[in-house]
Amino acid sequence: MSRKPLIAGNWKMNKNHLEAIKLVQELAFSFTDKDFDKVEVAVLPPFTDLRSVQTLVDGDKLRIVYGAQDLSAHDAGAYTGEISGAQLAKLGCTFVTIGHSERRQYHVEDDALVNAKVKAAFRHELTPILCVGEGLPVRQAGDQVPHTIAQVDGALAGVGAAQVKSIVIAYEPVWAIGTGEVATPEDAQEVCGAIRTRLAGLYDREVADAVRILYGGSVKSDNTAGIMAKPDVDGALVGGASLDPGEFVKICRFGE
Ligand code: PEP
Repeated sequence: MSRKPLIAGNWKMNKNHLEAIKLVQELAFSFTDKDFDKVEVAVLPPFTDLRSVQTLVDGDKLRIVYGAQDLSAHDAGAYTGEISGAQLAKLGCTFVTIGHSERRQYHVEDDALVNAKVKAAFRHELTPILCVGEGLPVRQAGDQVPHTIAQVDGALAGVGAAQVKSIVIAYEPVWAIGTGEVATPEDAQEVCGAIRTRLAGLYDREVADAVRILYGGSVKSDNTAGIMAKPDVDGALVGGASLDPGEFVKICRFGE
């Protein structure tokens, strides 16, 4: 089963809508059709930048796709400050990140809320990039696999095979996010492989083989190739390095 690699840039709370246009233009000038034949490239700007990115991508018929960093579990109504899946779909979003560790940590998002958000994304034909991964104490105790699998189970409860087939799962060990301390390719493969095995158990082999599983955590152009060489790693979720267009393009070329 061949899965097209995906490199997604999580801009976090960086770049205003004008800076977003500049960054996407710089990316667009660097990529060629040959790049896009080999890899899907996504940017995940803040909500306030999405309309500008949409205008640029549509106007210039760019092959870069985009998405949001979160969504509400609700579709509409009295939820001040929230953004719905319907609103993101209307803006042409392909992806939406769900359950990023920074949301789990700073906004107390638990597996039940993550599960509700996954279902909300699918209701609006958005592809979730479901983030899972262990913190340092769990890693030190050697419990990274059961911990991460429990997060996958919680996020996918009640989600059918037809939808799960299109999901993207990002394994992001929390100790590696923004720390410069990247997991080894073997660390990444251990957990990504375990996630795929779990998907085969929860659904079937066909579903497990279809799902793209990314690694995220201090990915840079000089560590991408090793991680991408692992059989169950289908791409990367890139935070800090995605703000530097030259570096992000190199990552999308797997360090070449
Ligand atoms: C992230 O925010 O998902 C991430 C992986 O960040 P960084 O690449 O900066 O570690």
